[in-house]
Amino acid sequence: MPETYVIKVGELILKQGNRRYFEQKLFSNLKARLSAYKVRVSGREGRYILSSPDAPAEVLRKVLSTTFGIVYFSPVLTPPKDAEAILDTAAAVAADMMRQSGSGEFKIEARRSDKSFPLHSYDLACLAGDYIRQNCPGTKVNLHTPAWTVYIEIRDQVLVYGTGVKGSGGLPVGSAGKGLLLLSGGIDSPVAGYLMAGRGLRLEAVYYHAYPFTSREAREKVETLTRSLAPFLQGTVLHVVSFTDIHLRIKEKSLNEELTLLLRACMMLCAEKLAVRRNAGCLVTGESLSQVASQTVESIHFTGSLSSLPVLRPLIGMDKQTIITMARDLGTYETSILPYEDCCTLFAPLHPLIRPGYSRMRRAFENLDIEELIEKSLEGTEKVYFTSAG
Ligand code: ATP
Ligand code: MG
Repeated sequence: MPETYVIKVGELILKQGNRRYFEQKLFSNLKARLSAYKVRVSGREGRYILSSPDAPAEVLRKVLSTTFGIVYFSPVLTPPKDAEAILDTAAAVAADMMRQSGSGEFKIEARRSDKSFPLHSYDLACLAGDYIRQNCPGTKVNLHTPAWTVYIEIRDQVLVYGTGVKGSGGLPVGSAGKGLLLLSGGIDSPVAGYLMAGRGLRLEAVYYHAYPFTSREAREKVETLTRSLAPFLQGTVLHVVSFTDIHLRIKEKSLNEELTLLLRACMMLCAEKLAVRRNAGCLVTGESLSQVASQTVESIHFTGSLSSLPVLRPLIGMDKQTIITMARDLGTYETSILPYEDCCTLFAPLHPLIRPGYSRMRRAFENLDIEELIEKSLEGTEKVYFTSAG
């Protein structure tokens, strides 16, 4: 028997005229992630079926739970369009649900889209409810607070399935184009990448290191974070750019209180140049308003002005505790809190500017005369590739 799953989507179903585009993205993303196996994905209008004769169940479940666009999935049985066969299948699903949940309280949700099927939805639900009660000892109908549900759908084929597993939701990766994530080793930027991939952005990432001021371990930490994100991103490329000379230039030519802001500005400019080369239409950062001095409105005005591409900051209105909870759920938190120093902490000024004047900072930036150094850093970029398997 091939492993077969029913997939439900959320927002994607609202796309009306563009629905086909989003569906195709979801199908091709699933196929790409399961390219080592034979896979069939089909269906339309909010109900999709994925089946594979050779992919292991654990692999399918991992892929289905980490592919954006899926709100819910469940193993499904597809009996023939015959009342007796449907009732037997419903009872088999019920027995399985009862084993899994330890409770016998259930309800039936029946839906008949194929109007040539003789039983109406309501009659089918009543029949199936009675049949399950008679054939699965310990079960009891509870319409308001059931422990599980058996779904019966009569479409071009019959689908019978139980309460399933939550997916990641959102929109299929790639449906919103491509962006470049500024990924540091901290807690915030991996969460920012996850959120924007969930809005349909395909992402590549850039990490600025300053070896030997920053250690090998700091870089490995960012690679580990990228590996954790890779399944959600449908695979990605991490661009590792050396900022050592840029750090030294900033240190030499500017006031201590301006260091962090000028470094952030260089990161933005460099990211914009890289994004253009990689065909990305926006930048993504983990900035959150007022979290640190370089993330006040005035600071963001200045650093953001170095990119003519839109800078998306999905964490801008979130407090740190919310972000930490999300990082924990995502599985990146434990890596992010490893103690290896970030280049920014090494060069952190004692009293950074909190409300920098825009013109003053632009002048300080011009004074760095940094374009050529940035071009040189970009030339030396190393690329590290991550498949969706990590
Ligand atoms: P994070 O936890 O993401 O590091 P943070 O709270 O430490 O964030 P900052 O260090 O001020 O905040 O960085 C703000 C944003 O700038 C980061 O979220 C990230 O997008 C980007 N950034 C900072 N340092 C780097 C770096 N070394 N390489 C790439 N991007 C960086
Ligand atoms: Mg940081």
